[in-house]
Amino acid sequence: MTKWVYTFGGGKAEGRSEMKNLLGGKGANLAEMASLGIPVPAGFTISTEVCTYFTSNSETYPPDLEEQVNAAMAEVEKVMGGKFGAKTWPLLLVSVRSGARASMPGMMDTVLNLGLNDESVEILAKNSGDARFAYDSYRRFIQMYCNVVLDVDSHHFETLLESHKEKQGQTFDTDLTAEDWKILVKAFKNEVHKHLGKPFPQDPKEQLWGAIGAVFGSWMNKRAITYRRLHGIPSDWGTAVNVQAMVFGNMGDDCATGVCFTRNPSTGENLFYGEYLVNAQGEDVVAGIRTPQPLSLAEKNSMGSELPAMEEVLPPLYTQLVAVRDKLESHYTDMQDMEFTIQQNKLWMLQTRTGKRTSQAALKIAVEMCEEGMIDKAEAVRRMDPAQLDQLLHPMLDPKAAKEVLGKGLPASPGAASGQIVFTADEAEAWAKDGKKVILTRIETSPEDIGGMHVAEGILTTRGGMTSHAAVVARGMGTPCVAGAGDLRVDYAAKTLTAGGVVLKEGDVITLDGASGQVLKGEVPKILPEMTGDFGKLMEWVDEFRTLKVRANAETPLDASTARNFGCEGIGLCRTEHMFFDPQRIIHVREMIVATTEEARRAALEKLLPYQRQDFVELFTIMAGLPVTIRFLDPPLHEFLPHTDADMAEVAKAAGTDVATVKARAAQLHETNPMLGHRGCRLGVTYPEIYEMQARAIFEAVAEVGKKGIKVLPEAMLPLIAVKAEFDRLKQLVDRVAKEVMERTGAKFDYMVGTMIELPRAALVADKIAEGAEFFSFGTNDLTQTTYGLSRDDAGNFLVPYQDLGVIPNDPFVTIDQEGVGELVKIACERGRKTRPDIKLGICGEHGGDPASVHFCHSVGLSYVSCSPYRVPIARLAAAQAALGSGGVHSTA
Ligand code: ADP
Ligand code: MG
Ligand code: MG
Repeated sequence: MTKWVYTFGGGKAEGRSEMKNLLGGKGANLAEMASLGIPVPAGFTISTEVCTYFTSNSETYPPDLEEQVNAAMAEVEKVMGGKFGAKTWPLLLVSVRSGARASMPGMMDTVLNLGLNDESVEILAKNSGDARFAYDSYRRFIQMYCNVVLDVDSHHFETLLESHKEKQGQTFDTDLTAEDWKILVKAFKNEVHKHLGKPFPQDPKEQLWGAIGAVFGSWMNKRAITYRRLHGIPSDWGTAVNVQAMVFGNMGDDCATGVCFTRNPSTGENLFYGEYLVNAQGEDVVAGIRTPQPLSLAEKNSMGSELPAMEEVLPPLYTQLVAVRDKLESHYTDMQDMEFTIQQNKLWMLQTRTGKRTSQAALKIAVEMCEEGMIDKAEAVRRMDPAQLDQLLHPMLDPKAAKEVLGKGLPASPGAASGQIVFTADEAEAWAKDGKKVILTRIETSPEDIGGMHVAEGILTTRGGMTSHAAVVARGMGTPCVAGAGDLRVDYAAKTLTAGGVVLKEGDVITLDGASGQVLKGEVPKILPEMTGDFGKLMEWVDEFRTLKVRANAETPLDASTARNFGCEGIGLCRTEHMFFDPQRIIHVREMIVATTEEARRAALEKLLPYQRQDFVELFTIMAGLPVTIRFLDPPLHEFLPHTDADMAEVAKAAGTDVATVKARAAQLHETNPMLGHRGCRLGVTYPEIYEMQARAIFEAVAEVGKKGIKVLPEAMLPLIAVKAEFDRLKQLVDRVAKEVMERTGAKFDYMVGTMIELPRAALVADKIAEGAEFFSFGTNDLTQTTYGLSRDDAGNFLVPYQDLGVIPNDPFVTIDQEGVGELVKIACERGRKTRPDIKLGICGEHGGDPASVHFCHSVGLSYVSCSPYRVPIARLAAAQAALGSGGVHSTA
């Protein structure tokens, strides 16, 4: 016989907290509390397996369920000393509560006071000595039952209640007398009759099974299905149903109900925290009908509340509640969120679960619990959610501030920023020079906007995804960014930003929340991140566990020092082309690319050399003692072409030629698919002098800093290798330049030459490439594009619908596609190691800072991940969690 029903109460229980899959979070924890000897009204849980049976057997129950429910009800009656459906005192009333494994809005709400009918309400009135309470309970029951079981909306009843109060000149529900509630019960029942064509069900058994069926049925309602899809909850999990003896917080002034947290959920402070109401039931505390009161005096003082604290009003019960708090927290070794009710000076616990908390609270609680000895360092590290850590590194919107939302885009780069709207990068720079704070607002951004992006407080685009240019660059700079806000419209000509009906002009102030993707009107107050002791402590613990090293993608001195402050262990990707966009240099870059002879190209490159060398000197100085991977020029020359006539003229002048020649050359270099065109090592093979200049700049910089006693390990990285011969030719070139520099300067230094693996072909022939390559760095952005055969610039139109439809689980540019791209990474690792067992393996795509992808990198045995500076702490945490075999996900009830 299958056991479908599990009882709890009276100091014992058939379930345990580990049985969440079967009993749901609420049921499992009620059972656990009962076993711990905490006062819990007796009850029973109908398992999630019944839900599965119910949905797959056209809404019917297992044949032996009714018998098990009856037996369990008899058990509850014995413990509580009342009878369900009795016509004499003592009565047993119950609540019917849903409870899935994970807390799930969209499920049926709770029904309280079930079992009341026209007869039992009189018995309750007489024996409780409080007719007002009895009739109030009955009308609440009718209202809740109708709402969730019979589909008669609550507002019908609210209207009746309001018009009654108006007629009687009453303001608050508490003004109503027993007589008032009696009249209303009658009116409520008439209303039900009107809607259903039959009376409100009087038989308690019918009421019970109606409520049970409604809970199970709500598992398949549209709201719940949508919620599950969005949160990746499988539909076969099912929900459990809890039937529990009612206790009453609304029987007089020695009664109360409340919610509390073992620690403060917004600050994490180790202070008991909560709210309660005297003479109230169920959801009254959170419903906002009356202002709830603080629990402790400490809390009352810190909030400056005038209302009496429970510590003052009900001291013995407060002491009992504190004891329960201590017991539950040390039992679960985590912050708990609890619900309680006091009936005539007796405390009852109705729920406990792991409490939701802000990022700051999560950090503080994890660190303090470890220091208190409640959990060990490994557990503290496991508890921290990498996404929450991310929030701590940036300014956040003040949760208490008023907000007017204009629209929403993708949360592309966390942090909150306010500033005046400008529509071009040039204006951003000009305004910033005048000391103004600006939000660069564009349809999309391109490499030419980099200067404006650097000075902007925040970046807003109306097109593009999580890996659009704006998003990637903003994350790299740690600048808040909302990307692809499709419901906003930018009109460059009119210089307006339109959001719904609102038209904003250049200079108007907006606020971006890069953590949620919201675009808000005006300046919204922010709270600044605090790199407090707790953060430092946790990061120290993190480093004790991880085996994967974490490097940064950085090229500017600012990025490099930010990354070092965040604890990076070298640079995994220095994109040399980012150094080319500087206005002083772009002209020489253009001069170089319009050149038609090697001689002319070399002349332009000579001008670039000192800049590039100086960049490396600065970078190496900051990264003293650490490895620095430098990628040779990668983007298609196409990207550097002059666009405007003025640009063309300027280039012509610098190159000593005429505009027509420049125009012709630009047309010649134009490409249809530049990302699959003349780029990466293909440039180095066809124009070796470009890579030669870069190699010289690197090695001369190494020699120069070496004179000051600074040692770095440069790793020369050749991008977009597809065939071994490309690699071999360019390695020869790099080696030759290194030798020349050593001979010329007399310096001796070590260096490595390796490649990016970012084409499927390279992954497949990795064994051959490894004959010459000393390291591989997986460029998973390009590898994803080329493996999937899609362009990240154009994929937005279908990648989002694809995720909504469940065709792909997530954006492959955010979280590595383990099945496809990951398989190529594995193959390349295997084949590379076969040729060169000590080959250094790393990853430098955007994925390097994505926790799930970091787990993958750990599992295939890479030696490091490289990510943007602000993601370094996140990658360190994710690497530690991967080593601990876990991942910072909280369970809820
Ligand atoms: P939710 O999942 O929305 O929190 P609950 O099932 O916890 O719903 O019920 C909401 C509230 O109803 C509880 O906080 C509690 O105050 C009240 N409640 C539920 N069951 C009982 C009961 N048996 N006796 C008294 N109050 C109850
Ligand atoms: Mg609850
Ligand atoms: Mg690439």
